[in-house]
Amino acid sequence: MDIVSLIKEKLFTDELPLEARLINVICLVGMGAASAALAVHILIMPSPHLIFTKLGIVFSCLFLLYVCNRFRLYTFGIWGTLVSLAFVFFPLSFFMLGGADGGMTAYFTLIIVCAFLFLHGRHRLLFLAPAIAALSACYFVAMRFPSLVRQMTPLEQALDNIQSFVIAGLFVSYVILFQGRVYLAEKKKAEDASSGLARAKDNLLHREKLLVALTDVAMSLLGTGTQVSADGMTKVLKTLALSIDADRVCFWKRNPQGGEWSFVPVFQWAGDRRPVKADVTVTALWRTAFGERRHVNGMTRVLPEDDRLFLEAGGILSSLAIPIFLRNRFEGFISFVDCRNERVFSEEEANIMQSGALMIAAVLQREAARRDLEAALEGAHAASRAKSEFLANMSHEIRTPLNAIFGMTTLAENSSDAARKDYCLKKIREASSHLLGVINDILDISKIEANKLELSCANFDFKTMLKKAITVSDFRIQEKHLNFTTHVGDDVPRALYGDDQRLAQVITNLLGNAVKFTPEYGAIELDVRLAGKEDGRYILRISVKDSGIGISGEQQSRLFHSFEQADNSTTRRFGGTGLGLAISRRIIEMMDGRIWIESELGKGATFVFTVKISGGAPVGETTRPLTEEADNFEGFHVLLAEDVEINREIVLALLEPTRLAIDCATDGAEAVAMFSGNPERYDMIFMDVQMPHMDGYEATRRIRALDAPRAGAVPIIAMTANVFREDVEKCLESGMNGHIGKPLEFRAILAQMRRYLRR
Ligand code: ADP
Repeated sequence: MDIVSLIKEKLFTDELPLEARLINVICLVGMGAASAALAVHILIMPSPHLIFTKLGIVFSCLFLLYVCNRFRLYTFGIWGTLVSLAFVFFPLSFFMLGGADGGMTAYFTLIIVCAFLFLHGRHRLLFLAPAIAALSACYFVAMRFPSLVRQMTPLEQALDNIQSFVIAGLFVSYVILFQGRVYLAEKKKAEDASSGLARAKDNLLHREKLLVALTDVAMSLLGTGTQVSADGMTKVLKTLALSIDADRVCFWKRNPQGGEWSFVPVFQWAGDRRPVKADVTVTALWRTAFGERRHVNGMTRVLPEDDRLFLEAGGILSSLAIPIFLRNRFEGFISFVDCRNERVFSEEEANIMQSGALMIAAVLQREAARRDLEAALEGAHAASRAKSEFLANMSHEIRTPLNAIFGMTTLAENSSDAARKDYCLKKIREASSHLLGVINDILDISKIEANKLELSCANFDFKTMLKKAITVSDFRIQEKHLNFTTHVGDDVPRALYGDDQRLAQVITNLLGNAVKFTPEYGAIELDVRLAGKEDGRYILRISVKDSGIGISGEQQSRLFHSFEQADNSTTRRFGGTGLGLAISRRIIEMMDGRIWIESELGKGATFVFTVKISGGAPVGETTRPLTEEADNFEGFHVLLAEDVEINREIVLALLEPTRLAIDCATDGAEAVAMFSGNPERYDMIFMDVQMPHMDGYEATRRIRALDAPRAGAVPIIAMTANVFREDVEKCLESGMNGHIGKPLEFRAILAQMRRYLRR
């Protein structure tokens, strides 16, 4: 850097205050002039006085320059300059350079100019008064004591005069020039400041516009109450887009069906541009930005090629895409595009648009939650209605057989005719088994609702299962003189592995319905076919076709739901709980199949279902910007633990024909005591579960823990009304060998006795 640039930068930069720069001018000019005069004096007529005076001026100027600029003591500089000019330099020059004869006028003019330049108001007066007094004093002293004034030679005088006029002239012209430059610089500064102010004002106005837009959006969204219409949302988006001068805005939601980074346009405002129709899958640029919660903002032409081509095809010159996160979950993004200008949206624009977008997202989420809630509420109401109707039906369904049981019991009691008593008992049995069916349905449906229905698989013979299922409806079929035909395809395998009881339950239910809803002399067809094989399992297709009352299309859609019946009057005409088909559907679904209806009102109905069942081991047909014939168990001894007296009586009476010897205990503790008193006496124990003092589980555990060889071997069979799978498992876990459900079926007890009581 040369000396001129250095002086400019250090002493005349625009950053310095005006007076600092003026002082620097004075000092430099003074120093320059004094140095020049010093040189002239040394060359032409060396005079120690003059050399001393000029040197003094040079050093004073240097000193002032240093102190003012180093310590920024500009006020000190001003006063230092003026005071040294008026009270040191001027008197010194006056007496050294020939007094009033010298170029003193020019020097004093310089002092006055400086006073006017630097000082204002009373400061100017405060300085000029003593300065003029000092000037007058110099003249007075010179007149009174002329010998004090050093007389100059004519050459010296001429030189000094020239010098003083040159200094004063140079200084004044310099000041004028300088003032001009300063004026221009200050003017530019002022202009810059005012254009900065204008820019700031524009920014403020723009920000205000953005905030007003945001407020409008908030008011529209909050004012929507419970629902946001598509029109309302478009308006909101338009407000946002116009506030940042965008041509189109679109709110994109994640579209999980399309993949992790696929988005579907939910709402948009496109002004007079083409609206967005298709889903988009964003590229890596967007993925990375959204993953880091950043905006994608800027001109299309600087984007990677893929993105550039895609946006250019839509005529987009600039775009702003803001990811939307609600409760830390990435919901989608909002995009603003400009098809007319290339630009980068400001940080402020992006932030305010983000706030707007968040509000929209929050409102949409609120909307979705409200819809879910309404649907759930509607569902709950519907379920509650269906359950109320179900309860009414159920009451009817339970009371009807109970009425039969009570009525027939009274009739039997009052009759001495054995045949009539038999008839009554038969009716009581029918009503009881109907009641049991209703209770089983309720239990099944409650299991389904608790998601606890499970299949219990074993090898079974298909034909045997089918026969059992048909046997249940046999009597009613005959009673109604129905033409019942069965067809089983030759290729249907017999040896299967699955839950035969549940499969039989479905067929029984469909057959039962067909019988119920088909008038006398009607026809029912049961058809079983092998529909294929898949994953090593057979697909069986089973259909039950009847010529009954049929079901309308509208009714069909409801039937497989719990508690639903084709119509309410059906209940009164035909009875039923409305649970059978729901249970059947669930069982069929658990067997990986499906069920459907083919029917028209008044034209009969066909219920068709498929199930997938594995092949099994043959078990043989049981022929027996089982007979109810009593076997003979004479000589065997059984311990019955049962707290309810009537239940004890029933077991004793049921088993009387078998000649079995039965000892009774009235609770678990008594059973343990009786067994431990004589373990070898008992061949088997029937154990109720719920008993006072000690339940059946505990009693079993204690018996098994006894120190007697028979304690571990004696078969213990639960006889309980707790019939769920987990109840059975609990019995087995406690050490029992088997389980018989209540109400007791003679055949079930007999089966266990045949199994364990062998000679
Ligand atoms: P339930 O028969 O105990 O009422 P289901 O679930 O088995 O319960 O049947 C529900 C309803 O479906 C019946 O009430 C009846 O309205 C209708 N339905 C079932 N099977 C038939 C059929 N074969 N013909 C006409 N309607 C039927």
